[in-house]
Amino acid sequence: MNDQETRREEINGYLRLALPLMAKHNVPATPKNYTTWFKHVSGSNAALTEAIDELISQGKEFTEEINDNLYWKFCAEKDEHELQKLREDIQQVLLTVLNEAAELCGETEKYGSLITHSVAKLSEDASVKEIRSVMGEILDETKAITLVGTQVQQTMEAKTVELETLQKEFEQAKAESLLDFLTNIPNRKAFNEKLVTLTAEAATEEKDLCLLIIDIDHFKKFNDEFGHIVGDEVLKFVARKINDVIRGWDFLARFGGEEFIVLLPQTPLHGATTVAENIRQYFSKAKLRAATTSKPLGKITVSIGISRFQPGEALEQFIDRADQALYLAKNSGRNLVSTESDLEN
Ligand code: GH3
Ligand code: MG
Ligand code: MG
Repeated sequence: MNDQETRREEINGYLRLALPLMAKHNVPATPKNYTTWFKHVSGSNAALTEAIDELISQGKEFTEEINDNLYWKFCAEKDEHELQKLREDIQQVLLTVLNEAAELCGETEKYGSLITHSVAKLSEDASVKEIRSVMGEILDETKAITLVGTQVQQTMEAKTVELETLQKEFEQAKAESLLDFLTNIPNRKAFNEKLVTLTAEAATEEKDLCLLIIDIDHFKKFNDEFGHIVGDEVLKFVARKINDVIRGWDFLARFGGEEFIVLLPQTPLHGATTVAENIRQYFSKAKLRAATTSKPLGKITVSIGISRFQPGEALEQFIDRADQALYLAKNSGRNLVSTESDLEN
């Protein structure tokens, strides 16, 4: 067996293992749960396997909450390497399906070239649409082979559906891995990807690119006074409101905790300062009320640091200058906007 065949066998093995295990433990076969259990049986995450084994040994029921926790804790923040692996897995399953079809038809030679041709047509990150079109072509071809009975066609159609499900799961997992769980805006990983694209664009097109780091003032005190749940609601509110103030091509992400980051393409430092001032002033005037009781929650303010990208510099430096400007705003009394030019004074 060559490497590729071994890998294919391995993936098929995981596929066969994950679903019955989920059924055994009454875990619904949702895309998220499927991702978690595929990962578990493939042994790629020791901490996840340990957590699942412990839950099983304690006889715990896999409730929706537990399933969600497992997914978000161990699977949600997939790094690129893992997504790539999942992508390769799907391609491998596709190859397996096509090879199976070839064997079923007993027309290995004819199929052989069709398979090579079809798989080559699938891009690295094949979408559901692409898969459907390639599988459709193969089905047409299958129908054209007179020797082939309807049973083969039915098998192929079923496999197409199976593959599409897998692919949808992958696409959903990928989209979710870029979103922040609480606020539903892009997370830090998504920001890192966007930063690479936008800085490259700014450099080649010789356009300005500015960055805001927005940090809620004394948020710890707010949480202490009103509780974490209310704090979470405020974080969602802040994300929504910043999104309302910025333009469509600006990019907002949650940087972590109570910090948000905005990339402003084609915006000079003074333009970025106006955006930041609008954001700062909005919050300093807004009166917060509890959603359920309408009880006043007082106010929150934000401090903002701004930097402008200098083509050629390391991306960390670009972020670091905004961070230093933020610290200056904090040290100068909070509820303030500072830019990198203030650092020189
Ligand atoms: P500063 O004005 O210096 O920024 O003060 P701060 O209290 O906002 O900053 P600090 O870094 O000391 O604390 C950040 C706090 O943000 C800690 C935690 O209570 C809160 N926080 C971070 N992430 C979350 C979250 O996901 N939900 C909630 N409710 N609070 C969070
Ligand atoms: Mg902070
Ligand atoms: Mg803060």
